[in-house]
Amino acid sequence: TNTPITVLGLGLMGQALARAFLKAGHPTTVWNRTAAKADSLVAEGARLAPSVGDALEAGGVTIVCLTDYPAVRELLGDARLEGTTLVNLTSGDSAQARETAAWAEKQGARYLDGAIMAIPSSIGTPDSVILLSGPRLDPALDALGTVSYLGEDHGLASLYDVAGLTMMWSVLNAWLQGTAMLRTAGVDAATYATFAQQIAVGVAGWLPGYAEQVDKGSFPAEVSALETDARAMAHMVEESEALGVNAELPKLIKAMADRAIAAGHGGEQYPVLIREFERSEG
Ligand code: NDP
Repeated sequence: TNTPITVLGLGLMGQALARAFLKAGHPTTVWNRTAAKADSLVAEGARLAPSVGDALEAGGVTIVCLTDYPAVRELLGDARLEGTTLVNLTSGDSAQARETAAWAEKQGARYLDGAIMAIPSSIGTPDSVILLSGPRLDPALDALGTVSYLGEDHGLASLYDVAGLTMMWSVLNAWLQGTAMLRTAGVDAATYATFAQQIAVGVAGWLPGYAEQVDKGSFPAEVSALETDARAMAHMVEESEALGVNAELPKLIKAMADRAIAAGHGGEQYPVLIREFERSEG
């Protein structure tokens, strides 16, 4: 399709978004508070709108990508949004997304909230993952990369975003912990990385089955009881301390299992820890 697109906000990300739309052949209108940031895009074929109002009128779909949500509300607070389709790709939390959706819909806009799991240089390639929630949209955003539509609740894109980041940092921290332990024995990071990758892929394969236990709320120990896991965790803590490497992560892992055991779940399987994660404080 060649839906006309407007991009409001031409920071590092906004410029990359506008460029991807231009490359995909969309008539592209841009606007930025600091107009000079549009220069190279204009040279590549974008139209610089003289005002936010003009920019909103030009876009079949209007993308907003500013620093934060307060900036979005400041920019669009007085604008006429009736009949517009707004896709807000500014980073924020799920409450901000839902509030902004309610506000924009009251002004007569169709509103989608999104999160960008990519760096500017990957926008427009399949590596760039764009999460969207709200009403379904035509495929106009496919120019940005791999678009994933998550559902009607406007908060979902932000929630999937933080969930994904949690997964990413947890895997990386676990890998760095093991790397620190093995380096004490002269094993270099590259050698261990191959082994670590196999473990990570193997564990990822357990998720669908474990998720079934969480959804059913039933945790029979088919593979291993939490008590057995906790003994291995004690070795992990003791070994870290004996080696003189940081033991904070091993201790945190063990502390959560210990609490679930103290609550009577030692004979159940690991995903029973969901109860520890659903509580607001340890
Ligand atoms: P930049 O700091 O490069 O750009 C910020 C943009 O917001 C500029 O266009 C700036 O305008 C505009 N802006 C800020 N406040 C206002 C305001 N009150 N009124 C009008 N315009 C305003 O940030 P990025 O482009 O890197 O990031 C934009 C969003 O994308 C953020 O929410 C970020 O978290 C998200 N994101 C960025 C990624 C990245 O790798 N860069 C990755 C994933 C998400 P001006 O030029 O006039 O200052």
